[in-house]
Amino acid sequence: MDFVDTAKFALKSLFGQLIFIVLLIVCIDNLPIMVGQYLQKLQWLPHSLLIIAAIMAMQFGHSRLFIASCLLFASLYVGSIPTAYLTVEQVQHFLPLVLISSMVGLLWERDRGFSVYGLAASVSVMVASCSAVILTSMYLQSLSMPWLTQLFQQSTTVKALKFNGAEVLLMLIVQFIGLVRFTLKPTNRHAALMLVTLSVTGMMLYFGQLLPQLMLSLLAAAFCVLILHDSYNMAFKDELTGIKGRRALMQHTATLGKKYTVVMGDVDKFKRFNDKYGHEVGDQVLKMVATCVDEVSGGGKAFRYGGEEFTIVFQHKTAQQAKVFVEEVREAIGARPFLLRGTGREQNNAKGRNGAASTKRQEVFVTASFGIAERDNQLTEFEDVMKAADQALYKAKAAGRNCVQLAKQ
Ligand code: GH3
Ligand code: MG
Ligand code: MG
Repeated sequence: MDFVDTAKFALKSLFGQLIFIVLLIVCIDNLPIMVGQYLQKLQWLPHSLLIIAAIMAMQFGHSRLFIASCLLFASLYVGSIPTAYLTVEQVQHFLPLVLISSMVGLLWERDRGFSVYGLAASVSVMVASCSAVILTSMYLQSLSMPWLTQLFQQSTTVKALKFNGAEVLLMLIVQFIGLVRFTLKPTNRHAALMLVTLSVTGMMLYFGQLLPQLMLSLLAAAFCVLILHDSYNMAFKDELTGIKGRRALMQHTATLGKKYTVVMGDVDKFKRFNDKYGHEVGDQVLKMVATCVDEVSGGGKAFRYGGEEFTIVFQHKTAQQAKVFVEEVREAIGARPFLLRGTGREQNNAKGRNGAASTKRQEVFVTASFGIAERDNQLTEFEDVMKAADQALYKAKAAGRNCVQLAKQ
């Protein structure tokens, strides 16, 4: 279940990244010459956006994105770096591979913070992966593999590919290694790094060269958006369940008009459930319950209020109208089985006579109770409506649980 969720999220994120790259390519390809010349003059644009991205990454503790922004910034100066061993053309030729392999190195790294040691360690990982790829590329170039060059020349719609077949293959392999990491851990930080590798590859395959001005400006902007999105998630989403948390609820209350309904939900006998199956299983079940609550229809917005309690807010609906949708959620929770995977106390207790844990998977179910209250002339403040919904929830518990009660029947 967790893996499916992660894969779904990764696919969704990758889809967004691909749209970004297609738009980028279409944009650059169809840019009128006049605009292109104007953008050429905006030297300050990628510089300033990358500086902003680096500062934001620093502020929000994303050390890898800070390093990535610095590397992209440095890449703007690649043509003007005098090197003893390589010509400017060679440096520019290797730049795409350097960028891709560095990003993939960082993808497999972790954020180590901004201490000298932390930064040095991450930069070392980046340099190591970069060196490994460049050396492999040089080695591949020394081999004569005409079939590979032919393969890519025939099968791609490349306009002016300056790479040979081996280099394109290497680029795609490195890309794939990055993709594996991203699919395993599709966070916003990884999305930012992945976006650079995909954009660089997209540029190279389509234009046969990097067009840094516009690409780096947009990548820097994407970095800023992803950092902000990450911070939004941290602030407003509940860490365990992934649905919106209490802070988001409080923010949402400010946007409510005069007609709304509040629902308070609470998992039944959850303490006993935890005691029986263990806290870890309890956490997994809470995630499942949260998913059911979050899938509420009728325009309801779901939040984890805290512990095993959830809040749903229906705007422009009376309590009676909202009840139908809450009943659906209650039924969905009660009907969804949770498969024990042999980690809970109950499972450990259920070992066979020879001590081996039972391999048979056990299905367990939980139920939840709900209380509903709507805003009216007596309950004018959100806190009052919530309190009334809470009292209705107590009524539901007293009525035998696994049911929905209205504050005013
Ligand atoms: P009732 O039907 O009356 O609601 O009974 P209850 O046992 O659910 O109520 P009570 O408020 O006494 O217990 C709530 C329990 O929920 C206590 C705690 O063990 C469990 N709980 C709260 N937050 C979490 C959590 O994040 N993870 C897990 N696993 N358990 C939690
Ligand atoms: Mg409770
Ligand atoms: Mg409870």
